[in-house]
Amino acid sequence: MTMQQRTTIDPIDVLAIEYQCKKCKLRHAVAIESIVRPQITCPNCGAEWMKGRYVAHHAERTETAVVEFANALRSLQAIAMVDAELRIEIVLPVKS
Ligand SMILES: [Zn+2]
Repeated sequence: MTMQQRTTIDPIDVLAIEYQCKKCKLRHAVAIESIVRPQITCPNCGAEWMKGRYVAHHAERTETAVVEFANALRSLQAIAMVDAELRIEIVLPVKS
């Protein structure tokens, strides 16, 4: 049985989207407020992270989803909740 530990975070606590290159293992974090377009290629080795973006609909949706996710987070971070708190539930990494 796999144990999972969960917690919730405030949208304001989401600082960045992190990409990790499968080729060179570079971790590249982009601040939420700076995301206006997705990172298409690895800034270190040039690996194409979203292949066929002009051909395959899946890749186009991935690009759009990254930007829309960042836009949604920025909107959530700007919302002033009155009688409720909006929190995002996440699974914490399990240390073995
Ligand atoms: Zn790379």
